[in-house]
Amino acid sequence: MKLSVIGCGYLGAVHAAAMASIGHEVVGIDVDERKIAALSVGEAPFFEPGLPEILQQGIASGNLRFTTDMSEARGAKVHFVGVGTPQQKDGYAADLTYVNGAFEALAPYLSPGDVVAGKSTVPVGTAADLAPLVERTGATLVWNPEFLREGFAVKDTIDPDRLVVGVPQDESGEIAADVLREVYHPAVAKGTPFLVTDLATAELVKVAANAFLATKISFINAMAEIAEATGADVTQLADAIGHDVRIGRRFLGAGIGFGGGCLPKDIRAFAARAEELGRGESVGFLREVDAINLRRRERAVTLVLDALDHDIVGKRVTVLGAAFKPHSDDIRDSPALDVAVRLRGLGAEVTVTDPQAIENARRQHPQLTYVADRDEALRNADAVILVTEWDEYRRNLSPEHAATLTTGRIMIDGRNGLDAAAWRAAGWTYVGMGRP
Ligand code: NAD
Repeated sequence: MKLSVIGCGYLGAVHAAAMASIGHEVVGIDVDERKIAALSVGEAPFFEPGLPEILQQGIASGNLRFTTDMSEARGAKVHFVGVGTPQQKDGYAADLTYVNGAFEALAPYLSPGDVVAGKSTVPVGTAADLAPLVERTGATLVWNPEFLREGFAVKDTIDPDRLVVGVPQDESGEIAADVLREVYHPAVAKGTPFLVTDLATAELVKVAANAFLATKISFINAMAEIAEATGADVTQLADAIGHDVRIGRRFLGAGIGFGGGCLPKDIRAFAARAEELGRGESVGFLREVDAINLRRRERAVTLVLDALDHDIVGKRVTVLGAAFKPHSDDIRDSPALDVAVRLRGLGAEVTVTDPQAIENARRQHPQLTYVADRDEALRNADAVILVTEWDEYRRNLSPEHAATLTTGRIMIDGRNGLDAAAWRAAGWTYVGMGRP
């Protein structure tokens, strides 16, 4: 099928390449000329495992191309829109400028029978607002929220754990749902749940999922705060409650909390939208979820301060990680960088290392010192803090080896990812989060 994908960022570039890899003829469209230039020659403009391979295959096969020219969307049967929906600069609500801009730019090239599938995460009600613009052209608007995880985006796009499509409640909606079934044929054929809903439900599914995940993380971080006041160990607590299948162990890792381009802004936008709907109190707890999350960053900084006996000015602190999570170079609202910037603000000489995210981090925080090589970054450190649980730091760094590089023997484990006993046995002062 001929498809267009509008917006070629973390979501759209992967979507375009993944759809080409399952046999569709895809044009990816973005306003960012640098991104399109890179994508056109098969280069991923960001780090995503497996993306370069499917990009290059798609381009070589002639199934995949990229352009800045919106008119090339003409002729596609389905148009996916995955442009950004960041937090507004002066508030918590989502900024819909890019979504509105993309729909207005696309509308002149739509034909009767086309399907426009919104993929951006939007406040509930957005699709209903956009529908008249699309319907005037004879096309149908559906909402097809995306659940991919950065770092696993290729697999998640080709083989998702479920597909959700919100459609208008008439015959055009039924036809459009069938078109999307055809688009996602390999996943549908293997029995992946394909849920057809109304537009509002589909929009809500996405923010509800992210609200739940954020709540789960903040729940365990709230338990970490209580553990800290009582001498209990939150990791043992998480193991113990996680054995209950109703609870589950995943997303119960206490530490410096969540960040990235989705969870923080999505829970804020959800709370803001609920207030507009007169239902602010229904998700009022999301403000608390956000507050707990941000407190953990502060707590990590306090742990470094305490470990250095509050003598931090001029002390060399190595920060292991810059990306908001491993397997990604995404630094949007990264807790790791937030901690690094705060430590520097207190007078520490901060060195940041990361396997993938240094370039992005340097652009946003040029005041920090970056060293790509992990061991070089550790050299002469007075204290070390692990903030992004890359295997390079969590699994493949032995305390004995680290001790040959650093001056001090202080390890603050902001992700509770290290073997505390091993680090202590090697002579380190090991400090976890929510652990005695
Ligand atoms: P991004 O910033 O990486 O990409 C957005 C892209 O849209 C940019 O390349 C930008 O240049 C482009 N764009 C803006 N206006 C445009 C226009 N008028 N025409 C064409 N292109 C335009 O953002 P992202 O991470 O890919 O997120 C996109 C959306 O997907 C957001 O709503 C996000 O919440 C949602 N989402 C993201 C993820 C994820 O893991 N990144 C997962 C699920 C959902």
